[in-house]
Amino acid sequence: MSNELKERVALVTGASSGIGEATAIMLAEAGARVAVAARRRDRLEDVARRIRERGGDALVIEADFGIEAEAQRAVRETEAAFGRLDILVNNAGVMYLEPVMEADLARWRQMFEINVLGLIAATQAALPGMRKRKDGHIVNIASTAGRIASPTGAAYSGTKFAVVAFTEALRKEIYQDRVRVTVIEPGLVATELREHIGHAATQKAINEWAESVRQLQPDDIARAILFCVTQPPHVCVNEVLLRPTDQER
Ligand code: NDP
Repeated sequence: MSNELKERVALVTGASSGIGEATAIMLAEAGARVAVAARRRDRLEDVARRIRERGGDALVIEADFGIEAEAQRAVRETEAAFGRLDILVNNAGVMYLEPVMEADLARWRQMFEINVLGLIAATQAALPGMRKRKDGHIVNIASTAGRIASPTGAAYSGTKFAVVAFTEALRKEIYQDRVRVTVIEPGLVATELREHIGHAATQKAINEWAESVRQLQPDDIARAILFCVTQPPHVCVNEVLLRPTDQER
């Protein structure tokens, strides 16, 4: 445990696996009290146990961020348990990929609800406390897919372009309240994300590509997030784009 984030309270959404899990543990190791939120309680309990074993403080919040009220409740529960919320890492997300002509719009709607509206709802809930204290940090996880659209990614890219736009507009609305806003745009990261693509041919193609590159690891993204949230108060890292060295697009 270090002290860089001592007295800070963080909420990491989608902390039951991948980038969120690694980020929750890294923020806790830097001294933050961390609320971990997602749908799979057993996985969250495991993350919380690992944080507590290292001397940290963790709170488990089972919540579905595809439901606005649940995203808001996660913020309220964090504030109730730890007294405040300083760092919100909006990481929960899914990646459903398929060609437009074959698209299951119910699934695409659900993806927008999780990746975009859940993120907005959690942000809205977190802002009053942050603005009041003139201190806080919103970290949104977008993607290289939020910069470049590719076949089968019409909707997934749409959600991530939306996160990038939301983050920049939000920054301009709240910078005078000294709330910092950062968007993180990772390239290919080795996580469970690709297991739920939902289109067999696309999943196969991406898995084959993934095997051909040295993928980023969840810890690589967590380190970037830690860098952003440990800058002095007058420094706001607005955007971090990081790809595997082997990734072209
Ligand atoms: P994982 O699948 O490992 O993690 C996704 C997390 O989101 C899980 O904790 C999952 O938890 C949570 N989640 C999904 N749906 C919901 C929901 N409805 N409510 C609450 N939590 C939810 O993948 P990653 O770690 O890769 O993904 C994290 C973020 O990183 C995503 O936003 C993704 O788009 C983004 N990203 C990933 C990249 C990659 O290559 N892996 C590249 C660029 C961006 P649970 O199922 O328990 O609810």
